Formats: sequence, structure tokens, C-alpha cells
Amino acid sequence: MTQPAQTSPTPQLPAMTLADLQAQMQHWQQPAFRAKQLLDWCNKGVLDPCEMANIPAPLRQLLQENLCCQPLKLVHRQCSSDGTRKYLFALQRDRVAGKMVESVFIPEEKRGTVCISSQVGCVLDCPFCHTGTQGFEANLTAGEIVAQVLMIKHDLRQEPLADELHSDVTHIVYMGMGEPMANEAAVQQSIEILMDEQRLHLSRRRITVSSSGLVPQITRLGAAQPVNLAISLHSADDAKRDILVPINKKYPLAELRRCLDAYPIGKQRHITLEYVMLDGVNDQADDLATLVRFVQPERERVNLIQFNPYPGSPYSGSSKQHMKRFAQQLISQGIRATVRRSRGDDIMAACGQLKADATIPNQG
Ligand code: SAH
Ligand code: SF4
Repeated sequence: MTQPAQTSPTPQLPAMTLADLQAQMQHWQQPAFRAKQLLDWCNKGVLDPCEMANIPAPLRQLLQENLCCQPLKLVHRQCSSDGTRKYLFALQRDRVAGKMVESVFIPEEKRGTVCISSQVGCVLDCPFCHTGTQGFEANLTAGEIVAQVLMIKHDLRQEPLADELHSDVTHIVYMGMGEPMANEAAVQQSIEILMDEQRLHLSRRRITVSSSGLVPQITRLGAAQPVNLAISLHSADDAKRDILVPINKKYPLAELRRCLDAYPIGKQRHITLEYVMLDGVNDQADDLATLVRFVQPERERVNLIQFNPYPGSPYSGSSKQHMKRFAQQLISQGIRATVRRSRGDDIMAACGQLKADATIPNQG
């Protein structure tokens, strides 16, 4: 019996390697050096063939007709007083066209971090997370994940930040919308592209995947591409974590423990355990004691996150003072602990606040 023909989706330019483009040039009977020229534009974030100055018109037309050069469209950008920029992008692909994702650029003096999304909404439903309230709508492709970084690079070149802030992308964190490990293949492919020396050539030390704890996928990530790992722990007690991070019911703490112990981290590197501090929920003395028992201080550090409220959120955050005390108590037990500085508060760009609505925020 004959199988129905597979219709292959249109290749997305941001996901293409030099070898892919060389094969494409050969297929179109174009000189091989065009592949490198195209890649240079792409790496700079110039994805519109009309803006590729050294590409002749007939090749531009071939690109436009046969490839998806711009898998995302910038819909809106908000700039915070601290330099943080939040971007709203619309997908362009059939069936998901118009769905939105958000990405955030967080500048510091010597580094620029892009926080990228891996899904529209999220497959999981942690009750303190705004993205989780949106439900799952779509997985992004590798091209759409990489395009977030490229378009932000482009925007930063067009409009750099104030001199004291870094205006280029040096670090990537998969901490935007979605659970990266629930979109495993596309996320792994996007990591390969970000690390490819012909593409963005980022070292794995500069890439961090944050996961709520999908054990088999994290194990496979460690085997394929052991980038930095952050785990949304939020409680070291199974009964509490079942509520705060419901995937815990499937992969409880003992399994997560074994997975973290086996994750390959290089010397000088640590797994980050993220811990959002919720007033009266996971910030008490017994929570601290359970956390201390869970952490492996040689390989792990704890990052305390201030709860970022969103309209209608059912929790309130611990006070800053209480968070500092909690951190000091961890440190006194030999555990590296930091309190994460919240950025972009005035534009709701902080962790867990991303939730792209179809409605475009007011310009201003
Ligand atoms: N799905 C992944 C990555 C995206 S969320 C994960 O859960 O790890 C990135 C981080 O923001 C996670 O640690 C998440 O638990 C945290 N977060 C979610 N909602 C938050 C909120 N309202 N305030 C502070 N942190 C939040
Ligand atoms: Fe999804 Fe992470 Fe939010 Fe949980 S915290 S709902 S896994 S995005």
C-alpha cells in the first residue's frame, strides 16, 4: 500500500546551516559563495531579502518564493526604564499564523541576555505562572526560536542602548514562555544553531535551559548538548511541589535527584535550582530545612526568585527582607544562594509574567 506523500514544510532561513544553504544554492544553480553571504545577513538579524544589499534580485526572489525567511513578525516592543526590552512576535506559519510569543532582552554592563520562548503558552500549569494560565497553543520550530535572538540583535543594532549597557546578545536563557523540554527536538536543534561556529557560535556556557523537571528529556539534553541547566524546584517537599509544579506528580523529587546527579556539568559550573518565594507557602523554617537536605552544594546553587504578580495571581511574594534572610540561612549551611534581581518590572517583563495576548498593548 502506498503511503500518502509527506508535504515537507517550507524551510525557515534562521534554522539553516551553511551546508543547508550550500545545497540550496547548488539546487538553484547559484554560485556557492552566496551561501556564506546569506548566512552573514541572517546572523546579523537581517532576514528580509530586500535588505540584503549584495544579493542579486533574482536570488532574492528565489528566497522569497521558496523559503520562509522571516518566520516571526515584530508586533510590539516595550522598553523599560532599566534598559530591558520586551518584544511581542507573531508566528507566520500556516495554522498558527497570528499566535504570539514574547522574548526579553536584559542588558547589563558587560553582558546582554535574551530570554526566549519555546512554546506559545505552556503544556504545564504551574499555578503561580502567568504563561501557565494561557494553556498550550503551539510548539515553536527551531527557526522561530532562533529568529527571536536574531531579530533582537537586529533591533539592538538599529537602536543601541545607553553607553553603560551592553547592546549585543552574549547569553541565552530558555526562560520565556513554555516548557523547553516539552518541545525537545526544536529546542535541541535551536541550541545546535546557536552554538554552530558558522552561526552565532555561542559556547554552551552561555546557554541555559530552564525546566520544571521533565526527567527523561533533561537526561537526553545532557547527553546531546550539556548546556547550563536551571530547574524550577520551588519546593523540596513532594506534597508541596505536586501543587506548585504539577509535573512533580509524574517525576517526583527522588527521580529528579537522580537525574540532576547524572547531568554532566563541567568543572566550575553549577546547576541552578530556581525557587520562587511565596509568602507562607514555601518560605517557612521547615521549607528551608527540606531544601537544605535536597541541595547538593558541590554541584548546585539556589537562585531565589521574587514572585512577580500578574493580574489575578493567587499568591503573594515573600518580602525582600525575608528573602535575604532565607538566602543567608542557606549560605550559612554551605549552600551558594543568590536573590535574583528583577528586571523590567515596569513593563511586566520579569520571570513568569509573559503571556502574549492577541490584543496588542497600547503604544506609548
Ligand atoms: N517552563 C520553564 C521555563 C520558563 S519559566 C520552567 O518552568 O522552568 C522561567 C522561570 O520563571 C521558572 O523558574 C518559573 O518557575 C518562574 N516563574 C513562573 N512564574 C513566575 C512568577 N509569577 N514569578 C516569578 N517567577 C516565576
Ligand atoms: Fe510552564 Fe514554566 Fe510556567 Fe510552569 S513555570 S507553567 S513549566 S512556563
